[in-house]
Amino acid sequence: MSQLPPSLRPATRLIHGGTVRSNFGETSEALFLTSGYVYDSAEQAEGTFNGSVEHYQYSRFANPTVVMLETRLALVEGAEACRTTATGMAAVHACLLSHLKTGDRVVASRALFGSCHWIVSTLLPRYGIAAEFVDGADLAQWRAALARPAQLVLVETPSNPKLELVDLRAVSELAHAAGAIVVVDNVFATPLGQQPLELGADVVVYSCTKHIDGQGRVLGGAVLGRKKWVEETLQPFLRNTGPALSPFNAWVLLKGLETLALRVDAACRGAAAIAAFLADRAEVRRVWYPTRADHPQHALAAAQMQGGGTVVTFELADKDAAFAAMNRFRLIAVSNNLGDSKSLATHPATTTHMRIGAEERARLGITDGVIRLSVGLEDPDDLRDDLAQALSGG
Ligand SMILES: *Cc1c(COP(=O)(O)O)cnc(C)c1O
Repeated sequence: MSQLPPSLRPATRLIHGGTVRSNFGETSEALFLTSGYVYDSAEQAEGTFNGSVEHYQYSRFANPTVVMLETRLALVEGAEACRTTATGMAAVHACLLSHLKTGDRVVASRALFGSCHWIVSTLLPRYGIAAEFVDGADLAQWRAALARPAQLVLVETPSNPKLELVDLRAVSELAHAAGAIVVVDNVFATPLGQQPLELGADVVVYSCTKHIDGQGRVLGGAVLGRKKWVEETLQPFLRNTGPALSPFNAWVLLKGLETLALRVDAACRGAAAIAAFLADRAEVRRVWYPTRADHPQHALAAAQMQGGGTVVTFELADKDAAFAAMNRFRLIAVSNNLGDSKSLATHPATTTHMRIGAEERARLGITDGVIRLSVGLEDPDDLRDDLAQALSGG
């Protein structure tokens, strides 16, 4: 295949990046649903194992469909290398465990996805890796925590569910001075809405389960970073521990990427419109959406994001009001997932953030009235109608 022009814009890379056609000249990417590979000879097998021959070896290590996805994701992110995993959590876990060892220290923003929080607060200390949490929006806390040496900084921005931002440029500088690499969970922003590597981060992770599939079908994860780190640190961990992405799921995700720009753009416009609508409703105490003037960090959002993302969070009076509204939705579904073409509403205090306990929820401002709305691809007017009838009592 002829080389794609390097100047291609992201929307074009999402469609063409990484495609390798077989001898059949198929238009759509081929699905190589195979666990293993055969060799022409014993010599070719020997050469494959000793590295003198380039040949697929085993799909736990690499697979042509999976490699197409990894190449495309790297091109879109502007990263030197990418590896994919079976889930987003496998990606986060592999990042942390491949880089860290006993005696190391991790600093993380407090507002992390629940399972990321569990890995840092509960799993890592079992292996003698110290963890410190800071309020992600508070640079003074980052400065204090990173005044001592650390090996890894983990942040999620915008965070789930309160859409709090971390200043990626400032935190990356502090982290590097402390000796740490910066890992950014970029799920909420998507690769089109924020480029952490350009802002100074070292590694970006995704749950491809969210916007990259975007149609609620498969789980997947991705890690992107420098070639040297990916090949020397991450890759041996992945090869030998085995959280490989299924080629089938890779194929679904490749097809998801083709429409990512259209979907994310439409959902972001829908989310901004819904945020404006909710802010005007008497029943709504507060709305959080990064690019709104009433978001405490909207200047930072403008500086480091393109658009505000597809999630809007809002607060009603209490749990009864939140549950009543959610139970009256006719179009919006109650679900703990996000980044789907269908609009999904979550009550974080009793679901996604139930396990962290009341004290930590209070610290994160996740009251019983908070609802997280992942805005999908429905006509925003229909979503507004559904929200209006749900808020006013049906
Ligand atoms: C969903 C999610 C994850 C975990 O991804 P899975 O694919 O569910 O394993 C991690 N971080 C964030 C921000 C997420 O939304």
